[in-house]
Amino acid sequence: MLAIAHLLNELNPQQRQAVLHDVGPAIVLAGAGSGKTRVLTTRVAYLLKEKQVPSSAIMLVTFTNKAAAEMKQRVLDFTGENLPFAGTFHSLAAKILRHEALSGHLKPYQRDSNFTIYDSDDQLSLIKNIYKQLNLDPQQYKPQVVKAKISSAKNELIGPSEFQDMARDGLQVFTTKVYKHYQLRLQQENAVDFDDLLVLAYRLLSENPHLQEKYQRKFEHILVDEFQDTNKVQYLFTRLLAKPQDNLFAVGDFSKSIYAWRGADYRNLERLSQDFPSITEYRLERNYRSTQTILDAATSVISKNRSHPVLELWTDQTSTDKIEVYETASGELEAEKIAALIKDKYHQQLSEIAILYRTNAQSRAFEEAFLRRQLPYRIIGGTKFYERSEIKDLLAYLRLCFNPLDSPSHTRAEKAGKRRLSALQNWLLTIDRTELQKPTTCLHGILETTKYIEKYDPKDPEDALRLENIQELLNTASRFDDTLAFLENVALIQDGYLANSSSEENQRDTITLMSLHSAKGLEFPIVFMVGMEEGLLPHSRALFENNELEEERRLCYVGITRAKQRLYFSYARSRFTYGYSSQSMPSRFLSEIKPELLATTHHFQESGRAEQNPQDRRLVIDEDSLDALLNDELDIRDFLRR
Ligand code: ATP
Ligand code: MG
Repeated sequence: MLAIAHLLNELNPQQRQAVLHDVGPAIVLAGAGSGKTRVLTTRVAYLLKEKQVPSSAIMLVTFTNKAAAEMKQRVLDFTGENLPFAGTFHSLAAKILRHEALSGHLKPYQRDSNFTIYDSDDQLSLIKNIYKQLNLDPQQYKPQVVKAKISSAKNELIGPSEFQDMARDGLQVFTTKVYKHYQLRLQQENAVDFDDLLVLAYRLLSENPHLQEKYQRKFEHILVDEFQDTNKVQYLFTRLLAKPQDNLFAVGDFSKSIYAWRGADYRNLERLSQDFPSITEYRLERNYRSTQTILDAATSVISKNRSHPVLELWTDQTSTDKIEVYETASGELEAEKIAALIKDKYHQQLSEIAILYRTNAQSRAFEEAFLRRQLPYRIIGGTKFYERSEIKDLLAYLRLCFNPLDSPSHTRAEKAGKRRLSALQNWLLTIDRTELQKPTTCLHGILETTKYIEKYDPKDPEDALRLENIQELLNTASRFDDTLAFLENVALIQDGYLANSSSEENQRDTITLMSLHSAKGLEFPIVFMVGMEEGLLPHSRALFENNELEEERRLCYVGITRAKQRLYFSYARSRFTYGYSSQSMPSRFLSEIKPELLATTHHFQESGRAEQNPQDRRLVIDEDSLDALLNDELDIRDFLRR
């Protein structure tokens, strides 16, 4: 246990002032790495030890369960006390619901104390079931799209009947029908979905004055990290619980709002000042995480955003190191280059390294490059590439093409749809077996026959990721001439994965791979931001809408500000997408950084890869064919058959 005086001594005067905030609402607005999270944990310790607030009277909300666990641990180290109400909005809402259900308070909402929480897959299967029941056509509007619509409605606290009143276009009218039945079915099945946890907890308190008063009185202090990423129902839930003491302590940074697609609204930071006019505002401007060079790069990028304030930061950590930028010929070489550099320069510091990317599919090339060099790694917040369900489905089909007796693949394929499986079996009876020899031809044939792609809707963000993964599988396959060699390679890699993940205790010394979205709030001495290309960061979906472009820029800012000492950017001049190589342009965000901060090197002549892995037969596309492919004059299948 540490004395509070000691903890306070470690803070700068601005941080200390915020920690010692008396009572009433407060907001800490500050840029990345300025100690917001540290202020939050220290304040909790201060409330417990100096103000004698009981630990059960404190509600501490963070963005992920992992962050919550870390903060709890820190508070425990500082004070020897456990915080029973520290967690995410969802976990805290679930706790309240569970507790109140025991006293029958969920009866009016048709749930008893045994209610089940449905995850994303359960939700989807329920929705599909409703389609059948109502005789709705899944081709007209995909269940995934309707599911996303219902979810956003819930996050905005729009129930089925309000949704009906507001429904204008065909999709909305369609969704209304499903939404009504969906809610009914959840009730009948004594279940709540993820969004309902919040909606129901909010309704329970706002519709029952005695419960409202009970929790308002219970939670004397409410502290929220990453407030810029709250959505409407989270905001209202917080506001309601903070009354009447108004002891709400929120920290946030506009520039880190990266969850708009889940309904997050950074303007909630400003709304606090309207809803709590007596709010005290604290600013922290000293950054403790990064070097001046890294901060300068972050600032020069984020200050291009116009729609929200950008908070100033300074540091005394001068550095002469420039940010290194690697340009490579292809996405594969990008991974190779970085793996080689890590092996060379940082092999003693693997746990200090993070590889950050915009899309999960980008992890594949790095996973392979690391495995080849026996560099241990772990993936946070995403499933390893060959373990993703869409990839496993397709590999099962592929395996069945060669071995109809392969029972795990049969079971898997059956699960992916009986009609799909029998279409595949019929197709196999009719085709010329030589068509199966090339993995891309074979995969294209499978995709056509099984209509597997139709499972996913490109407009649904979750599905779009799966489609990207499928494309990535095609890209990998196109580097092989022979399907069996390809499958063998996959099996070897999967083996590698098993070896990699079974050694949990060794995870301390591993490279961390994760998406920019999952990196929020974390820090690493050495950060590689990879795939810095137009179309990846900013993502191609965001190129035309200014709001979305600004969100991509915030993602870039989040990535840069994760780095403590060394930051690297990399981009490839061409990337395999849709089964062929296309030219790519360096990200506009790189050109927003002052050139004197960057040191760019080009790596085009590497050939080490092919020597180390003789199995790897890279697909070479000559310029004429590339032009023809890009102009749609040549079909990729024809090209691959040549
Ligand atoms: P982000 O916006 O990325 O979540 P943050 O504002 O929450 O960042 P913290 O994670 O709390 O920042 O702090 C960043 C780093 O700076 C941490 O390693 C933290 O321990 C360190 N730090 C914060 N304040 C001080 C201080 N007064 N003295 C020394 N180190 C500090
Ligand atoms: Mg933080």
